[in-house]
Amino acid sequence: MSEPTSRPFAPYPYRPRRAVPRLPPLRFGRDARHHTVVIVGGGIVGLATALALARHRVPSVVIEADDTVCVGSRAICLSRRTLEILARHGAVARFLETGLPWVGGRSFYRDAEVLRFTMPHDASQRFPPMINIQQYYVEDFLLEAAERSGLVEVRWQSRVSAIRAAASGVRLSIETPLGGYELDSAWVVGCDGARSSVREAAGLRLRGTSYEGRYVIVDILLKSARPTERLAWFDPPSNPGSTILMHRQPDDVWRIDYQLRDGEDAEAAVQPENVIPRVANHLRMIGERADWAPIWMSLYRANALTLETYRAGRLLLAGDAAHLVPIFGVRGANSGFEDADNLAWKLALVVHGIAHESLLDSYSAERVQAARENLRQGMKSTEFMSPPSFGFELMRTAVLGLAARHSFLRPLINPRQTQPVRYTDSALSEPDGLTWSAGPEPGAVALDCPLTLCERHLPREGHLTELLAPSFTAVRFTADGRSWEGLRELQIQFSAVGVPLRTVAIAPRRPQELGSSEVAWDPAGRAAALHGAAPGTVYLFRPDGHVLARWQDPSAATVSRALQRVLGAPAIERRSAIHD
Ligand SMILES: Cc1cc2nc3c(=O)[nH]c(=O)nc-3n(C[C@H](O)[C@H](O)[C@H](O)COP(=O)(O)OP(=O)(O)OC[C@H]3O[C@@H](n4cnc5c(N)ncnc54)[C@H](O)[C@@H]3O)c2cc1C
Repeated sequence: MSEPTSRPFAPYPYRPRRAVPRLPPLRFGRDARHHTVVIVGGGIVGLATALALARHRVPSVVIEADDTVCVGSRAICLSRRTLEILARHGAVARFLETGLPWVGGRSFYRDAEVLRFTMPHDASQRFPPMINIQQYYVEDFLLEAAERSGLVEVRWQSRVSAIRAAASGVRLSIETPLGGYELDSAWVVGCDGARSSVREAAGLRLRGTSYEGRYVIVDILLKSARPTERLAWFDPPSNPGSTILMHRQPDDVWRIDYQLRDGEDAEAAVQPENVIPRVANHLRMIGERADWAPIWMSLYRANALTLETYRAGRLLLAGDAAHLVPIFGVRGANSGFEDADNLAWKLALVVHGIAHESLLDSYSAERVQAARENLRQGMKSTEFMSPPSFGFELMRTAVLGLAARHSFLRPLINPRQTQPVRYTDSALSEPDGLTWSAGPEPGAVALDCPLTLCERHLPREGHLTELLAPSFTAVRFTADGRSWEGLRELQIQFSAVGVPLRTVAIAPRRPQELGSSEVAWDPAGRAAALHGAAPGTVYLFRPDGHVLARWQDPSAATVSRALQRVLGAPAIERRSAIHD
């Protein structure tokens, strides 16, 4: 049997577009236009925020220091929740074409398999629980969708060097290879990553824990028939004392992460002469025989940090600029998508003059709560991957050693992957007034299930989450699919003051007549059972798909009050069109 050999460093099978810097029309060294929203940083979260804002009809300018999307190896796992967000923003197709879906994985202790796990999934789900896709593809596809919207301008090779308050909002100093200029904006969203200058200008500090354990991140090119799943080895014979993770990515790229032993020199650890033998040992151990080539090597150290607020006046923070989450459990980029989704609809209502700017405080409160939960889960995973003390290590060795024979110990090894967080304390949610047998509680994300949807009188098979547009959505369970006049009235009243409200009736079977109003039907009764719903039940969803409130047979005034609480003073002042 021939030994597999490592070829020299190979290039990524992806060629990024390189962009040239451009100066906008200037007046006395300042951008001639006053902008509504400027986003600092065109990484995943900056581009996702720009795309989400565009879906809410808000133009933005993205200032990006680099000349292209992320190069090298960073995020690879996108969650079902992220796919739902991308779908709502009209951008999921490219991700599904390229990404590799997966539903579970296996863990090994030494040479024995100790865990096989699957994430919640069945054939009726719209999206897989996870796809693997390289961060450069993620940014590239977001950029494509943002450019298609016609409402996003990305300024490449442009670095924000100073930020200060101005009479009309915020003034930024921008440096480019063509020279510098100033730019004014009403709102600035800092998506400028771990070393955020927006965060610094806001005088905010990240707090939390930094871990000692270090990981080498290696990408290799390898043709293999192995399926896409999450693979983990603890103390494997190929690299005793280490922990190794392995993931398939598109284009025959494989990610192999391994933990450095205590005392190993970090700089030497990422040199090819040290990396290649370890990867070769691992591939040999798992029976991979094909030739392979390294394409990326870097070092990673986990941080579990967050700001205590994501808003300082007109400065808002999102993504890694606001929180740094350990990679184990894949909550970094995925939670950044949720930041963008949460912030965009609120900022849109504020800049359209529909909601009071205090709505943005709920962005901070909800997403800080989510970050704390993500950090709690991420820290548990990190401490299992690289135990922070001798005591932890003893406990882990005991659990791993016994798990093959004792199934009750396996949940302790299960790598808790990212889950959407319910906004338990949100000031926007209306608490339940009665006991529900099932269904997402206020603050939780919509649950998905198959439904027959009907658009422009044409029925088609689809899913409940497809009903959620970038607007508020009132879903009413009915006996006959007839629209409820109360909700139709509200829709007209709120639309008249610029508040997007969609109303959909769900019926147990195809209605006799398909009228002009939106209707879906659910012959298997899955949606009704999943929501603890009877005829008359209304679920009111926010534009980010979280439940705002739910009632059994509410009056139109009850639904109206729940919406008005979100909007605050301006909408109430414009109530000439909204009647209680
Ligand atoms: C090895 C590794 C694996 C990971 N795996 C996963 C995973 O599988 N799933 C997951 O969800 N997350 C993962 N993450 C985390 C994920 O990569 C980050 O959370 C994500 O990239 C954060 O995106 P961001 O847009 O907030 O920040 P960044 O990606 O850091 O983007 C910030 C952008 O701002 C620009 N910028 C910075 N300063 C300025 C300035 N002054 N002016 C203009 N532009 C500026 C930068 O050039 C950059 O483009 C991983 C991270 C690592 C390191």
